[in-house]
Amino acid sequence: RGRRAVDVPALVEGARSGDPRSVARLISLVEDASPVLREVAAALAPHTGNARVIGLTGAPGVGKSTTTTALVRAFRARDRRVGVLAVDPSSPFSGGALLGDRVRMQDHAGDRGVYIRSMASRGHLGGLAWATPQALRVLDAAGCDVVLIETVGVGQSELEIASLADTTLVLLAPGMGDGIQAAKAGILEIADVFVVNKADRDGAGQTARDLRAMQSLGGRHDLPGGWRPPICRTVASRDTDNGVDEVLAQLDRHAEWLETSGEGRRRRTERAAREIEAIALAGLRARMGDVGGSAALDALAARVVAGETDPFAAADRLLAQL
Ligand code: GDP
Repeated sequence: RGRRAVDVPALVEGARSGDPRSVARLISLVEDASPVLREVAAALAPHTGNARVIGLTGAPGVGKSTTTTALVRAFRARDRRVGVLAVDPSSPFSGGALLGDRVRMQDHAGDRGVYIRSMASRGHLGGLAWATPQALRVLDAAGCDVVLIETVGVGQSELEIASLADTTLVLLAPGMGDGIQAAKAGILEIADVFVVNKADRDGAGQTARDLRAMQSLGGRHDLPGGWRPPICRTVASRDTDNGVDEVLAQLDRHAEWLETSGEGRRRRTERAAREIEAIALAGLRARMGDVGGSAALDALAARVVAGETDPFAAADRLLAQL
């Protein structure tokens, strides 16, 4: 890769005026931990803090992609600028291969009010924890009013998405045996809004009732002034009369609750703390690598093996040398 000079202020200026190429370049720079990463981060900082971050999660096939498309359309109808990050934690590829075959997104091709990007996180420093928040900052600074983050994979990533989002939508569908199972496995804890998609299919009512029954078992949401996640039903694949307006209304209600309860500020501060931590740990690891390659670590290890010191005392020594 050549060492082409990067004009960071011009890129930030371009992104803020809605130029998709500048946005793409900035995301690549942060994703690749480019040498100008720090300069980019500093230039973006004064322009961040406005975007609402909405995470979508749920089992494969439940309709996340279709719902994302419907939400993009709904936000565009309100004249909001929207960013979409599709994150595939299991893929080593990034840059559009995944979304390329998601035909419906082509609805928005050429619309400057929508920016869509797929990201892989495996192989990057700290994975999702590292690259996604930086991409969020780019979209935020670029003037996106809303950023939708969709996970393509399964598992652990759901929790990570929830930690990045102001509002987390958990999608379920009737007849997917694992739907409620997944809910039991912790989805109840992260959901701000439940969406029972594919409501045109048998069993949607039962899925909603099962969810409600589980909610009534109590939990953090039953505190006074707390937020009880509503359950919406959608047919995301329909263009009209699809229930998406109700989802939007609940998203607005949640945004207002985040504001008035102080929970929004708490979540953002928590998110920033995790970000700082991830960066600091990566820095520490790099410095440990420097020391680790040295004779100092080998010497300490030899002393531990010989029983002359213990690994805790040795670690303290190592840290003292950083
Ligand atoms: P994802 O894997 O969670 O992103 O799911 P997709 O959005 O790719 O949807 C999976 C399949 O379900 C696609 O074939 C969609 O067309 C279909 N689908 C999505 N929403 C609905 C719906 O509300 N009703 C029905 N019947 N099919 C849907």
